Amino acid sequence: STALDVEKIRKEFPILHQTVNGRDLVYFDNAATSQKPLVVINALAEYYKGYNANIHRGIHTLAEKATKAFEQTRLTAKEYINARSEQEIVFTRGVTESINLVASSYGRTFIKEGDEIIVSELEHHSNIVPWQFVVEEKNAVLKVIPVTDRGELDLDAYRKLLSSKTKIVSVNHASNSLGTVNPIKEIIRLAHAVGAVVFIDGAQAGAHLDIDVQDLDCDFYTVSAHKMYGPTGAGFLYGKKELLEKMPPYQGGGEMIKEVTFKKTTYNDLPHKFEAGTPNIADVVAFRYAMDFITETGRAAMAAHEHDLLQYATERVSRLKGVNLVGTAPEKVSVLSFTVDGIHPFDIGQMLDARGIAVRTGHHCTQPLMDRYGIEGTVRASFAVYNTKKEIDQLVEGLERVINFMK
Ligand code: PMP
Repeated sequence: STALDVEKIRKEFPILHQTVNGRDLVYFDNAATSQKPLVVINALAEYYKGYNANIHRGIHTLAEKATKAFEQTRLTAKEYINARSEQEIVFTRGVTESINLVASSYGRTFIKEGDEIIVSELEHHSNIVPWQFVVEEKNAVLKVIPVTDRGELDLDAYRKLLSSKTKIVSVNHASNSLGTVNPIKEIIRLAHAVGAVVFIDGAQAGAHLDIDVQDLDCDFYTVSAHKMYGPTGAGFLYGKKELLEKMPPYQGGGEMIKEVTFKKTTYNDLPHKFEAGTPNIADVVAFRYAMDFITETGRAAMAAHEHDLLQYATERVSRLKGVNLVGTAPEKVSVLSFTVDGIHPFDIGQMLDARGIAVRTGHHCTQPLMDRYGIEGTVRASFAVYNTKKEIDQLVEGLERVINFMK
């Protein structure tokens, strides 16, 4: 029913073609990390086989080639999220480092005693803890947007939290635990109306949703390559140029400086001011191929396919005896979270693994959200472009066995 040739796409992912515990692997842990297509794997190998060199400083041929490939990813990233300028793209290790960068640099500079930072109950720990560092140090206050029973942000409550004291609002574009897609454009508009800046954690959006930072008017946005069919240890932070300009460096070292003397050091221009030391060159280089893979496959076609899978899985899994879906927002990325009466999520995960099915179980780095629902954790199946309905049938069959066996 979708325009994608999924069988052809599956051929691009060598890791999928193996057996686990005697069965064909079913990989449903894509929200944790997605698998990598050959174009990405080959880009890594070609970099190390052909032009590995340290970037920016060298004038020899390999250094120039490596620098060009590294900077090409910046241009691709700029296009991917529709930033105004490549100076607004800072390479990081991923979402976690991007949040720490902004919390540390922007937060510690501009947050004062009594100021308020707003996050939500739906956040990953990495979008909570760095802000806690700031409020502790500055005697500021962390406020939390509550979630509804269906797993949506309570926007009325959010409106009431906003005031002239609000300095930063930081929420995710989509939830890794429940899949909820948040109305970030409205969240951003409301925050700007009280003069706050907005940080968007796009970890679960990068491979699934359209991202246009100019249309959103967000102040910061971040993604991780490894959740977008790219390598681990690479990602980028988008920041509005005027904000990045007035932020102090995050780390000191080589490459981020203009001139160093023992009296006074001056800093490099954007984005290099925030890229101290030798970066993760090969992984950043290969990240471009991952973004190109998504763009060439077609973000809309991928989203339609994943939406189809989610709908099918939701219908089938929710009909199983004792299954409770957690997170039933109408707008979701392809994440299905659930509990089963009387069976611990870990046991379900283990028994599914025995059948070659990889799901995630536990709190998914969202303990406050689990507390909100009074549960320890969930079973989470998350889908990517290479997944099929047949695999969902295998999941359902596995779950039926687990449920019958345990009762
Ligand atoms: N935020 C969200 C919503 C996530 O899903 C993740 C990864 N599970 C992170 C932040 C952290 O990303 P990373 O580990 O790539 O830094």
